[in-house]
Amino acid sequence: MDVQYHSTRSSLSSVSAKQAVVSGIAPDGGLFVSDALGTKALDLTRISGQDFHATAHDVLSTLLADYTSEEIDECIQGAYGPQWDTPAITPVTPLGNHWLLELFHGPTSAFKDIALQMLPRLFTKALAGRKRNVMIVTATSGDTGKAALEGFKDIPGLGVSVFYPEGKVSDIQRLQMTTQTGSNVAVCAVRGTFDNAQTEVKRIFADSELAEHLRSANTALSSANSINIGRLVPQITYYFDAYAQLVRRGAISLGDRVSFCVPTGNFGDVLAGYFAKTLGLPVDRLIVASNANKVLTDFIQTGTYDRRRAFKKTMSPSMDIIVSSNLERLLYYASDKDTNLIAFLMRNLREKGVYTVSAQLLDRIRAIFDCGFATDAETAATIRSTWEEEHVLIDPHTAVARCVLERVAPHLFTRNKALVCLSTASPYKFSSDVLAALGRKPENLDDFACMDALAEYTGTVPPITLSRLRDNAIIHTGVCDQNQMERFVTTACSRIFS
Ligand SMILES: *Cc1c(COP(=O)(O)O)cnc(C)c1O
Repeated sequence: MDVQYHSTRSSLSSVSAKQAVVSGIAPDGGLFVSDALGTKALDLTRISGQDFHATAHDVLSTLLADYTSEEIDECIQGAYGPQWDTPAITPVTPLGNHWLLELFHGPTSAFKDIALQMLPRLFTKALAGRKRNVMIVTATSGDTGKAALEGFKDIPGLGVSVFYPEGKVSDIQRLQMTTQTGSNVAVCAVRGTFDNAQTEVKRIFADSELAEHLRSANTALSSANSINIGRLVPQITYYFDAYAQLVRRGAISLGDRVSFCVPTGNFGDVLAGYFAKTLGLPVDRLIVASNANKVLTDFIQTGTYDRRRAFKKTMSPSMDIIVSSNLERLLYYASDKDTNLIAFLMRNLREKGVYTVSAQLLDRIRAIFDCGFATDAETAATIRSTWEEEHVLIDPHTAVARCVLERVAPHLFTRNKALVCLSTASPYKFSSDVLAALGRKPENLDDFACMDALAEYTGTVPPITLSRLRDNAIIHTGVCDQNQMERFVTTACSRIFS
């Protein structure tokens, strides 16, 4: 059976996986979903005996059915090669009474690489033979931007425009983006928050006049955010692969249920865990860990999603998000695929800033998802205790998850043989905050001095791509307002595709 995709807000027309990847977002503003999810299961016995690459093949060929097996193989070879600092790609390591799933071994030192090393290759295969340029337009809360730039740079026929919120990413994250080389890249800071930038990017995608204008120049827009199904699907792989690693280590037996705790912003990573469960992985609970921007904790506790609240800048900036786009997909599946309901809820969110789901729908979500949040003080304390007690250095996003796991899940320690905490970034991306959390930060140290001090104090080694940043020239200096983003994109299209 061919796996087709349609919008969360209407099932009237369907597209193939390749078309869904290239489009990014459905024409009505909804997100692409497949009704094949729930009808298919992966072979767990087989997966427990194979490596990351083979499991990636099983996952991708199941959900991206119009890619040939050869195309998927080529994508996997290219995406998960020597640019990773470990052949295991996503190793699982012990941490106290649970496990750490390390997702930061790729070229930009954050988990976004797992999908964004793959996505450009999925684009290239989908566009093969078609004479059309695609401009990737991406809003980033800090890590997606660099991972997208690195993945899409210098690929013929593709361009990438990245918008990050000015002053709301770490210094290292900003430098990763502003020093990006490549003939097809454009980077701009936006005055405002990630939510402002993401809202405007979604509006740009839905702007039919702009689409028409670009079409006459043979150009289309698409997304590298986790609203793109081509970003979510590759993330399913590491849930299965982590399980396989635990089986091989003898930590669990085949069939045992495990729970995952996921530091969450746009709800993409944890949704991939839900997809893994739907594909037959024995997942008990998925724990949604938030920082002080705890809109998802409130939603899972009360059934009301309310974005009318003050934005808080935290030490885990990649999770400073109030509108978690991928929740829309969970609502679709948890409501028995009620597209009318989803369209209604999303209209309420847009126009009134709030929606409430029925008790029945909330119960279904709570049957799988736990939740909790950590303040910056708790996050810093977790970084420090993890270092002092376990001698493991974790980044602030991972610390949010570990703190929430220890707090909300004591009952799971008896119920599950293994609990897995997703570790989403290298601590060196946040050198200054991590050093401060360890109580080792003197006044007035710049980020590279902090990086050196962190290495010296802990005896750990920063990723070479991060320590080298200090020598790179700053190329992208632009700053714009939300209403100037469209102009920036059209200018980038003319420059890159002319
Ligand atoms: C993006 C990101 C997250 C949040 O992931 P979502 O898929 O947006 O929920 C967590 N940690 C880090 C380091 C990230 O870059």
